[in-house]
Amino acid sequence: MPLDEETRLVRKGAPPKGGSVLARTVNPPVQRGSTVLMPNAASLYDDSQLTYGITGLSSPANLQLALAELEGSPDVTLYPSGLAAITGVMLALLKAGDEILVVDSAYKPTRRFCDRVLTRFGVTTTYYDPALSPEALMALCTPATRMILLEAPGSLTFEMQDIPAIAAAANARGVLTLIDNTWAASFYFKPLAHGVTISVQALTKYVGGHSDVFMGSAATADNVIGNQLGDAMWDIGWSVSPDDAYTVLRGLRTLATRLPVHQDKGLEIARWLQGRPEVARVLHPALESDPGHALWKRDFTGACGLFGVVLRPASQKAVHAFLDALDLFGLGFSWGGYESLAIHCDPQLKNRTLPVKLEGPLLRLHVGLEATGDLIADLERGFAALARA
Ligand SMILES: *Cc1c(COP(=O)(O)O)cnc(C)c1O
Repeated sequence: MPLDEETRLVRKGAPPKGGSVLARTVNPPVQRGSTVLMPNAASLYDDSQLTYGITGLSSPANLQLALAELEGSPDVTLYPSGLAAITGVMLALLKAGDEILVVDSAYKPTRRFCDRVLTRFGVTTTYYDPALSPEALMALCTPATRMILLEAPGSLTFEMQDIPAIAAAANARGVLTLIDNTWAASFYFKPLAHGVTISVQALTKYVGGHSDVFMGSAATADNVIGNQLGDAMWDIGWSVSPDDAYTVLRGLRTLATRLPVHQDKGLEIARWLQGRPEVARVLHPALESDPGHALWKRDFTGACGLFGVVLRPASQKAVHAFLDALDLFGLGFSWGGYESLAIHCDPQLKNRTLPVKLEGPLLRLHVGLEATGDLIADLERGFAALARA
């Protein structure tokens, strides 16, 4: 019996049973799908098979394989944003009564989650000074301490931490370590090889690399934890879009080529800024003058294009005049794309537990792939406006 037109419109052009009509392209196909058609009835409840699109079709699965290479672990979980990777790991692993130690220089929304959400679930957060020695940090642990969150260099203030020593001490005590490794993009620093339990990064930044997509990842060398992270994705109901996974994977292909360029251009601008009379200090661990330089040199193999600039005392009006005079540096949050960005940071520093003592206003620059001569001319325009204000 020939099929009715209504039926033919539903069925024609669908992938055939037992095969694929796809040609082999350089990049994986973007497979969009909620339903996955199973080959037979027995497969429907077979947990070893992919039975629902939420667990990741071709592009997320291929992205996970590539990130496994970057992180040095086969166990990589994808999240719909970088922040979701941090909160997802915490939701998967913490329970009521637990305590978590969070570095005071952590990404600000991480702190908001601890203060606004974890508190409601009976998890207590203690913020610690990034300058604490590993011994002093471990002395803050109580029997309820379940996790230590690290971030190095710290957000906005760029403090380094002795990550291997903290990870070793935490491991010996049975405390989990979670690092926000977005600055090094897991290219210039490999947390798992340094003993950290879970390496998280915002793929939104350098891995995506083009300021056009949100995603985060968590990698671990611990199978049990890896399974808990995967289970929590099911439990909470999160997934990543196949189109976004495709976009992030395309960014990842050129990460190793882009990052050294951001590093070199960033250092050139940082050194130029060090020579400016308006600048009190540049916060960049790859500079020999930086207090975190020795740790950075020991553990990291490079630096990205993001750093801080402490100005000599200047009014808010003068700082705004500096930023408003910039043309090539866009004024905007996030970073890691191909373009240069600038923000002023002081409104964000007020939320910290420990007072931040700086000589003057703090700026953060992201140095993109533009010619450094043009970027320096842009900053000179900013300094001229600062002087006039
Ligand atoms: C941007 C950022 C995040 C969050 O990433 P989103 O994808 O924007 O949620 C987390 N940590 C650090 C250090 C970041 O800079």
